[in-house]
Amino acid sequence: MMQNDVVVIGGGISGLSLAYYCVQAGMKTTLLEKNDTIGGSFASPQYNAHGKNFWMELGAHTCYSSYQNLLDIVEGCGLKDSIIPRAKVPFTLFVNGKIKSIVSQLHILELLVSVPNLFKLKKTGLSVSSYYSKIVGERNYREVISHFFNAVPSQKTDDFPADMMFKSREKRKDMLKNYTFTNGLQSVARAISAKSGLNVFTSQDVNSVVYKDGLYEIRSAGGGEYSAKTLVFATPSSVTSKLLKGIQPDIANHLGQLKAADVDSVGVIVRKENVKLKPVAALIAPNDVFFSVVSRDTVPDDNYRGFVFHFKPGLDEKTKRSRITEVLGIGFSKIEHTESKQNTVPTLRLGHHEWLEKTDALLKGNKSLLLTGNYFGGMAIEDCVSRSKSEFARLKG
Ligand SMILES: Cc1cc2nc3c(=O)[nH]c(=O)nc-3n(C[C@H](O)[C@H](O)[C@H](O)COP(=O)(O)OP(=O)(O)OC[C@H]3O[C@@H](n4cnc5c(N)ncnc54)[C@H](O)[C@@H]3O)c2cc1C
Repeated sequence: MMQNDVVVIGGGISGLSLAYYCVQAGMKTTLLEKNDTIGGSFASPQYNAHGKNFWMELGAHTCYSSYQNLLDIVEGCGLKDSIIPRAKVPFTLFVNGKIKSIVSQLHILELLVSVPNLFKLKKTGLSVSSYYSKIVGERNYREVISHFFNAVPSQKTDDFPADMMFKSREKRKDMLKNYTFTNGLQSVARAISAKSGLNVFTSQDVNSVVYKDGLYEIRSAGGGEYSAKTLVFATPSSVTSKLLKGIQPDIANHLGQLKAADVDSVGVIVRKENVKLKPVAALIAPNDVFFSVVSRDTVPDDNYRGFVFHFKPGLDEKTKRSRITEVLGIGFSKIEHTESKQNTVPTLRLGHHEWLEKTDALLKGNKSLLLTGNYFGGMAIEDCVSRSKSEFARLKG
């Protein structure tokens, strides 16, 4: 059995950032990832055509100057030079087969009457629907703005806590306001996993965790066996809950209260001349089989365009394929390459702050067990890295 100071289960940005902090502190660290590639929702598959690379984002796509903890890691991995700007192309609505600007769909009078509430109303304790319908007006919220919010975690967000959807954070003045990386966000995951001193094993579907004589024993479906003094879970809450059942039933039950949504993400690459759609950052669909289509037009390419459809779960391949070709206005034969991925996104509810306080109370005094992920302080990348940073501080404190 391979012995470690720390084993991290889950190779998305939450697990990778926690592993990064451990390795920087000189701890012998192993990270185990179920899939055959590292990154989780940092997924930028590379398509090699005519000797040139084209990538698209099957998950996260944008970082901001306010992602200060992420930026520290990016710099620590020597990746700062691969930060690139995103082209200014619009986020638009897609209604009845037509692109519509957000402004064109808003009821301006209602907006003008409501917007002063921005200076009076606090987000704390309010749901997304109750807060934002007062800021933009009920009809604007229902017909336009709610669809943008739904597109962020690819699920209905009416009942999300308003203060967990978009946070204002201090920005780094020397950074681009929003950006990506030369080879997409997954290059951050690859750079962390290449950090010297970090052992990364992919295709390790962890299915058993036992605690014996002060050590965790971790086993994966493929027969991998690892042991560690400290164990980090960086998996979706349902996976962490299941694996903790035998050793920490209280925490397992507490995590079991959370819900999450699966997002079926399908990306297609097409030659530029075959698609008439004008350049967009994303299409947001109010009442469709997908929540959004995120495009690669933010990093334009001479030959190709990429479109990632974030579908509602449970659709068959034929339905997805025909909707893709309808929206892009092309025949199926014009699709040069397809990539698919399932993402898991938490379903946050009012009362989540109290849930989080209880989680941390249950973990108090137990420095050998760390929990991170996108279901603690929020689902944005910086929320994940911040949670990892504070869990690492708990380990060292
Ligand atoms: C479509 C989409 C777009 C987004 N866009 C943005 C954006 O532009 N900006 C932003 O800030 N945020 C964005 N987000 C949110 C953010 O990207 C995610 O919340 C964050 O990347 C999640 O990271 P994570 O490590 O917590 O989880 P994940 O990335 O889901 O990683 C969890 C990992 O655990 C692994 N795993 C699961 N079970 C096991 C097991 N039994 N054994 C071993 N490994 C296991 C999984 O395979 C996975 O790799 C987006 C999210 C999605 C889904």
